[in-house]
Amino acid sequence: MGYVVKRDEIGGAAYSVYFLEIGRGMATVMRHLVRNFTGYWLGVKGPVKSLAPRYEVRTIDYPLERATLPPRYRARHRLVPRADGTPRCVACKCCETTCPAKCIRIVEGEHEDPAIEKKPVIFEIDELRCVFCGYCVEACPCDAIRMDTELVELAEYRRADFVYGIDQLLLDMPQKPPVKGGQW
Ligand code: SF4
Ligand code: SF4
Repeated sequence: MGYVVKRDEIGGAAYSVYFLEIGRGMATVMRHLVRNFTGYWLGVKGPVKSLAPRYEVRTIDYPLERATLPPRYRARHRLVPRADGTPRCVACKCCETTCPAKCIRIVEGEHEDPAIEKKPVIFEIDELRCVFCGYCVEACPCDAIRMDTELVELAEYRRADFVYGIDQLLLDMPQKPPVKGGQW
């Protein structure tokens, strides 16, 4: 529903024309434009550092600068490895069952260690279908899957390449990129 201009806000004559409201809107836009540009050129590029935070909170120079991810962010999945490098996952399929997008596919097999019942022979996540809800992480009884990689910029050339298998999901935690700028 659109904004209804009340007659007592701007007066009777201007109420029927709306030009006053258009002018006020443009003035607000220009005020923010001038203020932000001034903050950038004087505060970030120039000597008046006190103006910089106002600019930096709003805009960062991505991709030269990276924003700080919020504490509870969810990024690309990873499988947590055991000490020998194999997945901690026991192929219980809790994550596959709970996934609302049905983008996890697990095929289980016998584990070589008799103390561990099963292991995933195939563990695939279609990151294009994933809605990054985090239910798979919540459902896992072994803390075997996490979404803490900080990889939020997923790019591939083919749709099929977004289906990540065990080898890709067993990646180490990547090095954090240099963080500048404001919070998300
Ligand atoms: S984050 Fe949600 S949609 Fe994505 S794989 Fe996990 S449960 Fe499925
Ligand atoms: S819920 Fe955890 S242990 Fe079970 S299949 Fe998924 S990742 Fe593996």
